[in-house]
Amino acid sequence: MDNPPRPDDWEWPRHELIRWEIGLTAPATRAFSLTDRLIIGGPAILLMAGPCSVESEDQIHSAARAVKAAGASALRGGAFKPRTTPHTFQGLGAEGLRLLRQAGDAAGLPVVTEVIAHTDVDLVTQHAQILQIGARSMQNYPLLHAVGETRVPVILKRGLAATVEEWLGAVEHIRVRGNERIILCERGIRAVETATRFTLDITAVPLMHRLCDLPIIVDPSHATGRADLVPEVSRAAIAAGADGLLVEVHPNPALALSDGAQSLAIDHFADLVPSLRRVANAIGRNLPSPVGTVPTGEGSGVGAGA
Ligand code: PEP
Ligand code: MN
Repeated sequence: MDNPPRPDDWEWPRHELIRWEIGLTAPATRAFSLTDRLIIGGPAILLMAGPCSVESEDQIHSAARAVKAAGASALRGGAFKPRTTPHTFQGLGAEGLRLLRQAGDAAGLPVVTEVIAHTDVDLVTQHAQILQIGARSMQNYPLLHAVGETRVPVILKRGLAATVEEWLGAVEHIRVRGNERIILCERGIRAVETATRFTLDITAVPLMHRLCDLPIIVDPSHATGRADLVPEVSRAAIAAGADGLLVEVHPNPALALSDGAQSLAIDHFADLVPSLRRVANAIGRNLPSPVGTVPTGEGSGVGAGA
């Protein structure tokens, strides 16, 4: 699709100007391959699940097996953790990357992990199939440029208090370096409400589908800060058109070294998935069934969209 004519600044909201500058095209183009077996942004909704942090070999292997069995398409787990204070668990670093990849390979899942420093991009891409830029790093331009130089799919989380315009500007910092495999992630923004950890901007999901050609996923865990709210918010995200979810799941949330209060226990995650599939089917999409199960119902086939 051709770009529209350059609008006059005074006539257009800023995000429309950004859209023009970026040359974003029709939403129908938003699907792309994440791995050789997975497509994001197509009819299949992808679940990326796992603990906030990689803590030990046992923990990440049991999380990997469990999320795979429940129907996840990718394993998440942080090795480099951007924590609010330096007096809490900061992640296992390079050892965490190794354990994460080992657990992902054993379960047959690609892994997603955060990179927080531009100097770590090479190291992280040696282990992860999907990179994550965290909310605190959305405007770390040297980091955006370094991931832009790779051709590895990258989840770009929305900044803690970033506008849509700033978020699209960050997209552009990655895209101009040549990496077009960008997945937006709405993870809640800081608003007036303090009863939940952040405020999920559900409107950003259909809005981004109008404004750009990128898939968008929702992180219901950081958005709410409360595991008990995650099921309803996850269903709402899929109903609003999210192309996937990034969910924190821990084998023992009470013992988690980070974000335990918002982490689903394994059985709660497994219980949630069938209802996500029903919502997906209700809007004409599907959620791949766990490998080894017999697909039931419309559009729930293994590898659908992959
Ligand atoms: C995370 O995914 O664990 C994380 C730190 O997320 P965010 O950057 O959205 O706070
Ligand atoms: Mn977390």
